[in-house]
Amino acid sequence: TSLPPRRPIRELPDELISQIAAGEVVERPASVVRELVDNALDAGAKQITVRLLGGGVRLIAVEDDGVGIPQAELSQAVKRHATSKIASLAELESVGTMGFRGEALAAIASVAEMGLLSRTQGDGHAWQLDVRSGELAPGARSPGTSIEVRELFYATPARRKFLKSDNTELAHCIEAVRRHALARPDVGFAIWHEGKLSAQWRAVPLPGLDGIARRLADVLGEDFIERAVPLMWPADGSDARGLRVSGFAGIPDAARSRADQQFAYVNGRFVRDKVISHAVRAAFDDVLHGQRQPVYALFVEIAPERVDVNVHPTKIEVRFRDSREVHHAVQKAVDAALAVPRAGQAAEAGA
Ligand code: ADP
Ligand code: MG
Repeated sequence: TSLPPRRPIRELPDELISQIAAGEVVERPASVVRELVDNALDAGAKQITVRLLGGGVRLIAVEDDGVGIPQAELSQAVKRHATSKIASLAELESVGTMGFRGEALAAIASVAEMGLLSRTQGDGHAWQLDVRSGELAPGARSPGTSIEVRELFYATPARRKFLKSDNTELAHCIEAVRRHALARPDVGFAIWHEGKLSAQWRAVPLPGLDGIARRLADVLGEDFIERAVPLMWPADGSDARGLRVSGFAGIPDAARSRADQQFAYVNGRFVRDKVISHAVRAAFDDVLHGQRQPVYALFVEIAPERVDVNVHPTKIEVRFRDSREVHHAVQKAVDAALAVPRAGQAAEAGA
């Protein structure tokens, strides 16, 4: 047997490093939408507009009315590992923003054409950066940021081949915005596709669970909220040593054949988490039969030191320091909510 020829170890070129990193972050147009909306929320936006062409493959434009990026920092924004959100390990460990890795814009720019247009509150006008040419020019818009991403994967045809039809990609983009919208009723969202309004959810002026309820009705339909019960753990709403669970769960009758209305959030971030989904399932165990899937929008608030969000570049997974306490809290919250109508039934039966 012969050994493979040995090649020298070399540092990869910058562009290729970004393209490799982009593989983890940018799977399809919806991943870009998620990252850009994350950024808009981190910038304190109150209104976010997403415009798409060709299911997002031809164009994704996200406009916000947030703090903006000053002219001097526009080209920094698209550099790898460049961020305004953390500056130290201590800040990483208590991060409160959606972003912190400083990777998204660099990753997206390495697999698409990208332009930034931004104006801070103090600027007299906006500035525009064409990422490929590095050209910086004066532009026009109200304070806030617009980011345009064109021709996703134009330079990596192998990845472009994995994309589905425009309609499927559009559906994923809308789903990405829905996930944000459910957690932020205080922010208005609009999605346009091919010049037509696909979805619009106006900012809700109500605080707390009332706001969430209104937004759930707007996004998932009145039907969802009419057949849902509020979740609250601890029952008095107090913060149990930095752990709180709130939200809504559908009554057993509202369960679906598909798991397409299961929204879990940790400190405002949409997550896919086995601890949470298992705890919900456990609470539903004796009231749901067969393959019926519960519906819920569940928000876990936990002290940032007790959860690691830096597990995966997309941050859709988190790691709890003590997953048992989270499991317990979620199960208790859902148990208690489901017990309310059941207690009512029991009283009727006894009468
Ligand atoms: P991260 O969000 O992890 O910091 P990004 O690559 O997504 O990394 O963004 C880099 C930086 O660009 C951010 O830290 C932020 O300062 C700035 N930025 C990006 N998008 C916006 C926006 N919509 N409004 C204001 N600043 C933004
Ligand atoms: Mg970001």
